[in-house]
Amino acid sequence: MGESMAPMIDRFGRHITYLRVSVTDRCDFRCVYCMAEDMIFLPRQSVLSLEELDRLGSAFVARGVRKLRLTGGEPLVRRNIMSLIGSLSRHLGKGLDELTLTTNGSQLARYADALTDCGVARINVSLDTLDPVKFRAITRFGDLAQVRRGIDAADRAGIKIKINTVALRDINEDEIADLIRWSHGRGFDLTLIETMPMGEIDADRTDQYLPLSLVRARLSQLFTLDETDYRTGGPARYAKVRETGGRLGFITPMTHNFCESCNRVRVTCTGTLYMCLGQEATADLRAPLRASASDDYLHAAIDEAIARKPKGHDFVIDRDEKPSVARFMSATGG
Ligand code: SAM
Ligand code: SF4
Repeated sequence: MGESMAPMIDRFGRHITYLRVSVTDRCDFRCVYCMAEDMIFLPRQSVLSLEELDRLGSAFVARGVRKLRLTGGEPLVRRNIMSLIGSLSRHLGKGLDELTLTTNGSQLARYADALTDCGVARINVSLDTLDPVKFRAITRFGDLAQVRRGIDAADRAGIKIKINTVALRDINEDEIADLIRWSHGRGFDLTLIETMPMGEIDADRTDQYLPLSLVRARLSQLFTLDETDYRTGGPARYAKVRETGGRLGFITPMTHNFCESCNRVRVTCTGTLYMCLGQEATADLRAPLRASASDDYLHAAIDEAIARKPKGHDFVIDRDEKPSVARFMSATGG
């Protein structure tokens, strides 16, 4: 093993052990906070093949990544996605501790058993409402019953589920307590997420933005939230809800800074490495991947990129401002 197999440590001493890979920019939904209705998707030749994604993921595992999350777009709409998941699963127990995904749940009924067979033990499912009409309005195309069948299938298959809910002003703010009761009643943790200003969507983000500090204050009237020091290595802070016994996470990029403990980088489906969710700093990994069958160029590009990982992000939601980050969340997958 050469020098390039050294672990990835940035100039602030942060060890990079978590990689999120967006395997497609496509999605069967068009959530109002995530995408414009008439999204134009990438031409196929610019998207990494499944073999290239496997090389890329494997190279990062060789460099010390212990947790690999597939996301998108919707990862489970990528054709033959299970062949990639199956192939990446060979690293489990051999450097890789966890292979997981973030999904909208629409295809879970189909894939739940296959995911278990590949050693996927936990997944995040995004769900912003339990009302089918509202669900359709938020996702523009989604069918809540199908997602619920998917969640049931994953649960039956023994996959641990965490629900992610984006808190949206006037849209689901009255439902958050019910979502907590429902999730915890089924044994799922729930994490609330603030909207982040990424990509030009059709709506005005200031209309959607609901600060979690406010949500938390309201929830405190209904539940007893006990602080915990439970961490999953990510930005969420967790409280234990005494009445339900479940865990409630808060991801507050707008009101709380979590950059100092950041252990992650993201790659888009075109092989662009983003060193920070809230910054434009990138590195192209597709060219080195395609330049040679050997991974030498790739590792050199990774080294160069990690050395440039920014200290932190700088999100602003302002009515007169362009989004802080021009790309859509569906490019990097959250
Ligand atoms: N399609 C999958 C899903 O919905 O779970 C994976 C990709 S999606 C981009 C990942 C997560 O990002 C979802 O939980 C979604 O709700 C969240 N998300 C999308 N756009 C967002 C935004 N502008 N601000 C905050 N969260 C966002
Ligand atoms: Fe698709 Fe996920 Fe974005 Fe919704 S949040 S449009 S499901 S990628």
